[in-house]
Amino acid sequence: MAFELSPLPYDYAALEPTIDEATMKLHHDKHHQAYVTNLNGAVDKHPDLGKKTPEELLANLAAIPEDVRGVVRNNGGGHVNHTMFWQIMKPKGGGVPIGEIGSQIAADFGSFEDFKKKFNETTAKQFGSGWGFLVFKGGKLEIVTKPNQDSPLSDGLYPILGNDVWEHAYYLKYNNRRPEYLAAWWNVINWDEVNKRFAHAKK
Ligand code: MN
Repeated sequence: MAFELSPLPYDYAALEPTIDEATMKLHHDKHHQAYVTNLNGAVDKHPDLGKKTPEELLANLAAIPEDVRGVVRNNGGGHVNHTMFWQIMKPKGGGVPIGEIGSQIAADFGSFEDFKKKFNETTAKQFGSGWGFLVFKGGKLEIVTKPNQDSPLSDGLYPILGNDVWEHAYYLKYNNRRPEYLAAWWNVINWDEVNKRFAHAKK
């Protein structure tokens, strides 16, 4: 297999009560696995694709053979988005952002509270399935939303953090209350990992 699903970096129940065990199990083992399986299906048809990283594939979708371009966009995006998602969360995470990302958030949004409010409001409005992302563009942090599994990488932007607002990410526990899920999610953020991603985004 060209691409593989890594195990979660913590137990399925480790993010309770913010994200419940059943959601984590389904989300990682079924949803994320399906993206990886489908991406590998595209590589079966065009083995050269397996020589690139999923991030490289997304960064140049125009170079993907047309018959699998949509499959790579959706499932490569699903793979990369979820890999980031598991890594930027951790048990006993949260708190105020530390390090360089903390300073940059204060500089660009006024305060962490203002940033969270703007991120949550923007992402809550994403119609249907998609993601809210934080990116670094022209020397400033910016909040963007994307439909489906589209990645900011396809716009030349590196996702520093992102929250999944597909219903599969929150429906079992939060039902239709997306804003409640968005507000709670900050309790499990791994700011060390977000700082690493910010450093990468600045390169
Ligand atoms: Mn998801």
